[in-house]
Amino acid sequence: MRKIVIASNNPGKLREIGQILAPLGIEALPQGAFGVPDCPEPHVTFVENCIAKARHAAAHTGLPALADDSGICVDALNGAPGVYSARYAGEPRSDARNNQKLIEALRGETNRRAHYYCVMVYLRYPDDPEPVIAEGRWYGEIIDTPRGSGGFGYDPYFLVPELNRTGAELSAEEKNAISHRGQALRALVEKLKALG
Ligand code: IMP
Repeated sequence: MRKIVIASNNPGKLREIGQILAPLGIEALPQGAFGVPDCPEPHVTFVENCIAKARHAAAHTGLPALADDSGICVDALNGAPGVYSARYAGEPRSDARNNQKLIEALRGETNRRAHYYCVMVYLRYPDDPEPVIAEGRWYGEIIDTPRGSGGFGYDPYFLVPELNRTGAELSAEEKNAISHRGQALRALVEKLKALG
């Protein structure tokens, strides 16, 4: 098995990524196992922050590294909360306060279009000049009244019009099949397979 480090401490993501990479002969190890300190995410684009996280994990471990970064971008807010999605309403981070702030920001707004975005970056070494980059986008609309109890973050307010269900009304399997993260991970796997 080829070992790589995953630049995340989220157990759900680690499990999901580990299961998808195992059949490729890749063992995904959490950066926590190596005591990698938190990485600053100072940039205004997802891809820049994601490269920074992968580079940081690769530099600290000496292993190839995979990082992901994601958030929600709302058309009427020029893409906000964007890279600030997790801390939109400030610290300490709170999904409830983030959602409240989003609904407030969209009060009276008729354009409710939004999408989740996810980017994944794989680096063979910290100064790899050829990062493998894969993206996913999941389109929907922001509603004022929450629906469902699954998922996390903005999911109860993220309506998928074709399904007439929110992200929080989908099972984990249903969400993975269409979500920004599922799309990005599958695209990354295809790119890694092509590289051999
Ligand atoms: P991160 O990529 O784990 O840092 O996620 C950034 C933030 O974007 C999360 O804290 C959520 O607020 C939001 N987010 C990203 N993906 C999702 C999702 O699938 N559902 C709901 N919120 C999400």
